[in-house]
Amino acid sequence: MWTGANDMTATIHAHRFDVRSLTMTTKNHPPMDTLSLDLLRLIKQSDPDVAALLQAEAARQAETLELIASENHVSASVMHAAGTWMTNKYAEGYPGKRYYGGCEHHDTAEDLARNRAKKLFGCDYANVQPHCGANANIAAFMAMCDPGDRILSLPIKSGGHLSHGLKPNFSGTFYEIHDYDVDPDSERLDYDVIAARAHEVKPKMIICGYSAYPRTIDFARFRAIADEVGAILMADIAHIAGLVAGGAHPSPFPHAHIVTTTTHKTLRGPRGGLILSNDEEIAKKIDRKVFPGSQGGPLMHVITAKAVAFREALEPSFRDYAANVVTNAKALAASLVEHGYRLCTGGTDNHLLLVDLRPRDADLTGADAEQWLETAGIVTNKNGIPNDPRKPMVTSGLRLGTAALTTRGMGTSEMKVVAGLLDRVMGSQGDAAVAETVRGEVRDLCGAFPLPH
Ligand SMILES: *Cc1c(COP(=O)(O)O)cnc(C)c1O
Repeated sequence: MWTGANDMTATIHAHRFDVRSLTMTTKNHPPMDTLSLDLLRLIKQSDPDVAALLQAEAARQAETLELIASENHVSASVMHAAGTWMTNKYAEGYPGKRYYGGCEHHDTAEDLARNRAKKLFGCDYANVQPHCGANANIAAFMAMCDPGDRILSLPIKSGGHLSHGLKPNFSGTFYEIHDYDVDPDSERLDYDVIAARAHEVKPKMIICGYSAYPRTIDFARFRAIADEVGAILMADIAHIAGLVAGGAHPSPFPHAHIVTTTTHKTLRGPRGGLILSNDEEIAKKIDRKVFPGSQGGPLMHVITAKAVAFREALEPSFRDYAANVVTNAKALAASLVEHGYRLCTGGTDNHLLLVDLRPRDADLTGADAEQWLETAGIVTNKNGIPNDPRKPMVTSGLRLGTAALTTRGMGTSEMKVVAGLLDRVMGSQGDAAVAETVRGEVRDLCGAFPLPH
């Protein structure tokens, strides 16, 4: 029986901790909420191996600059909500219609998550059960298309996602995938060309929303194109969901028929998926295709954490966060240009930058940059750029995002510092001494902007 926070503390302390047995691996042990410390101690009693790796990972996150565009740092509330009693339950079905008894509180949790998601995105329907973004897309495809139907999407090499039609993926296996591409010169979407492709292909469904596209998506224009050819419009806002929720990117509603997203990127929730719509008929199909169509029991502990994250995103401060993510991305972009790099599309409108490394150094590859930066405590990922002559495991580009640094409270002056650190490492030819010096400066900067706790 839940009677308040004091009881929970008492329960945790009922386990006999040996506080001294938990030695921190770094002198600069990251600031941590007391519950996290207690949990580490608790796990250490039964599994010292896992306790050690958890502590090391907490330290890694605290002491490195996270610039991967799809990552973020969740609040302690979101993190701990995902590690609760809710994990112990089967809840196949939906609130009020479960295939298992004892789901009373799970119904409440899922209803909270669904209602908050609807409010956050201003729509009539939400399914919070998809285990991840790719699973949300499987259910969405199954709801809207039959196997063999034609789908028009942006390929992964131009910034699309593997679940939009890559051959070995379910999407490329069960559907007839046709491509549109970004303009080779501007590297941006050219809506006239996309419209022409749509008339040529006559797809059942058009997908917009990407993994490496730094510009605003014109959802209204996409809907007009879909209407011209009688296609369904699906918007996959996995990357920009936090910006949409915080008012820093236009909403896919009322334009898209169906919207899918992850909850863990700019939206800053637990790892998971989400499907949204305004259409009652589509909603019914989605529910059937998530369960029993493509999943079994929902991850109710994660759904509970989604509810917590959606509430956080409904706070006024989340709008400031979303605006700051974009301001920081523009500041980082401007500084990198000053250092001699080129930005694909010429800049950014969102949280993400695609950096062409070649103008700074014709021999510098994305793979080298990623590796050298990691040694210096700066975490990024290599990424192909439009018409990249190098292979996907090498690349000429680096993808950067500002969500995680913004969550730590960094602003435009820190972006200038970060651009300088990036350039010193990428201009070093992999010099170990440079990496070591930068590593120290990264630690200091991280120390001044601790993780949420
Ligand atoms: C990240 C991403 C996904 C997939 O999310 P997972 O949770 O990794 O399955 C889907 N679509 C787009 C556009 C993404 O960027």
